[in-house]
Amino acid sequence: MARARVVEHLMQCLARLPGVGPKTSERLAYWLLRTSKDEALGLARAIEAARDAILVCRQCFNLDEVDPCSVCADPQRDRDLILVVEDPRDVAAFEEAEYRGVYHVLQGRLSSLEGVGPDDLTVAALLARVRAQPPREVCLATNPDLEGEATARMLAAELSALGVTVTRLARGLPAGATIQHVAKSVLLDAIEGRRRL
Ligand code: ZN
Repeated sequence: MARARVVEHLMQCLARLPGVGPKTSERLAYWLLRTSKDEALGLARAIEAARDAILVCRQCFNLDEVDPCSVCADPQRDRDLILVVEDPRDVAAFEEAEYRGVYHVLQGRLSSLEGVGPDDLTVAALLARVRAQPPREVCLATNPDLEGEATARMLAAELSALGVTVTRLARGLPAGATIQHVAKSVLLDAIEGRRRL
């Protein structure tokens, strides 16, 4: 017997999640149908609540329940140091490492494979921000892999043309490691040992 159409649809929706293939989407769909209705609908409600509550900070593109985000709104932060990261999850990692400057979230990185160019990122907003209020330093904290390095090189060229000091995280990060998965002491060292480009 063919699957009910609603089950097929649920599986297709789940298969769109990052890292979920057809086998996993089937397993998840059947789990959602077998578990208590409260648990399954609780997940749906959690998605809805998070989507309704979370805003994109119009200054730094971080995700938070407030706009400007709690980092941008904090008068104690060093606004003269902008750390440029790929993803809001990187902000969470650097917050754990007790970084005290502000951020700019690119919302991704250059990828020729996935067809992501500078216009798909928040590059123009970063350049406008630096032009409007030049910081003492912009530190490029994209991931230490091919695409992250290519993104950093493009940004370094654009930012240097504006006359701002551009730095890159220290090489202490293991090559190919992602910022979200290294220990906070390693991140702290990477910030402290940052080098001028
Ligand atoms: Zn912000």
